[in-house]
Amino acid sequence: MNIINFDYISANPLLPEVKNAMITAIENDYGNPSSSHQLGEEAAAELEKAREKVARLINAPSPDEVIFTSGGTESNNHAIKGVAFAKRDKGKHIVTSDIEHNSVLKPIRALRALGYETTSIPVDHYGRVNPDDVRKAIREDTILISIMHANNEIGTIQPIKEIAQIARERKITFHCDAVASVGVLPVDVQELGVDLLSFSANQFNGPSGIGGLYIRKGTNIWPLLDGGAQERKRRGGTENLIGIIGMGVAAEITLKERESQFNHLKRIKEKIISGIKENIDDIIINGHPEYSLPNLVSVSIKYIEGESIVLMLDEENIEVSTKSACASGSLRASHVLIAIGRDYADAQGTLVITFGRQTTESEVDRFLEVLTKVVSTLRKMSPLYQKK
Ligand code: PMP
Repeated sequence: MNIINFDYISANPLLPEVKNAMITAIENDYGNPSSSHQLGEEAAAELEKAREKVARLINAPSPDEVIFTSGGTESNNHAIKGVAFAKRDKGKHIVTSDIEHNSVLKPIRALRALGYETTSIPVDHYGRVNPDDVRKAIREDTILISIMHANNEIGTIQPIKEIAQIARERKITFHCDAVASVGVLPVDVQELGVDLLSFSANQFNGPSGIGGLYIRKGTNIWPLLDGGAQERKRRGGTENLIGIIGMGVAAEITLKERESQFNHLKRIKEKIISGIKENIDDIIINGHPEYSLPNLVSVSIKYIEGESIVLMLDEENIEVSTKSACASGSLRASHVLIAIGRDYADAQGTLVITFGRQTTESEVDRFLEVLTKVVSTLRKMSPLYQKK
């Protein structure tokens, strides 16, 4: 089937080189990297090769500062719970923002049930956190600040460097969920000044279910998964070597081609936005006009429901999403859209259009043509549109 994919954020297609490397890894029948015999040593060498490639992608000073996880959700849980537990004698206050991903919001909520306290920073109508608000939220007992790099629903990029600087001045651990940005934007942990940074391979054409956490040397953090001595005792459990090898190759190619890809994505984004503005009235483009991911367009289409648009586009073999795949089981309006001031109706009428290196201009043309038709059909049936 000839599917046109505008839902890259749910899972990027694998690069052919990644597929090949993973198939070769399966055929090689590697052993367990922890074993001290030859098979184990071979596996450990592959593991460390991949770690070096991933460390390079985020410019980690040393590959030892990167641990492999099962993806962004685990990395975020590890960072938040790991710091909260390790620093519990210093304080129990955590600062975060109103538009974090559920894999940050929910561990923080779980910690609240254990007596931790939280201050959540509101965002402006573009979805940006003001670093001054972070400064004001800090208390004597603040142990952790967790603010995402780029938002996965509206694309807005946060002033991470400034926030990390504030955290450093006050000796507070700073975690950044960079799942939506690593592989798309240049992410340099040294330049950003973060202590912990989460990322996921499926956002840069690697496999799903594999990711990493950057842990700056000297960061006080507990493991999330206690068990064996893998990952220098920071994450127990036999490593997903096939996935890790895939992520390493994806990281290497991404780093090499990021600049040209960035320009490609920007062109596609501009074409989508100008096409939507030309063809459809009563819409709002969400997110910051400048500080925004190049691979994402969020648009609220008034008077109709996003889920109906998704189903009708799917009938035409075009895939889009209304929110992040992790939240699509829920009928609730997106907390991110509510936080930037959309009302419930507009939030429900929002599409998240994401794309990547394989997206072509002719796919955009086809998408715009079908979207325009679908919106017009749905609006003809919409009592809200008749009344406007
Ligand atoms: N954080 C953000 C910003 C995300 O977009 C996602 C994936 N939608 C996650 C965390 C969770 O990552 P994973 O699906 O790899 O667990």
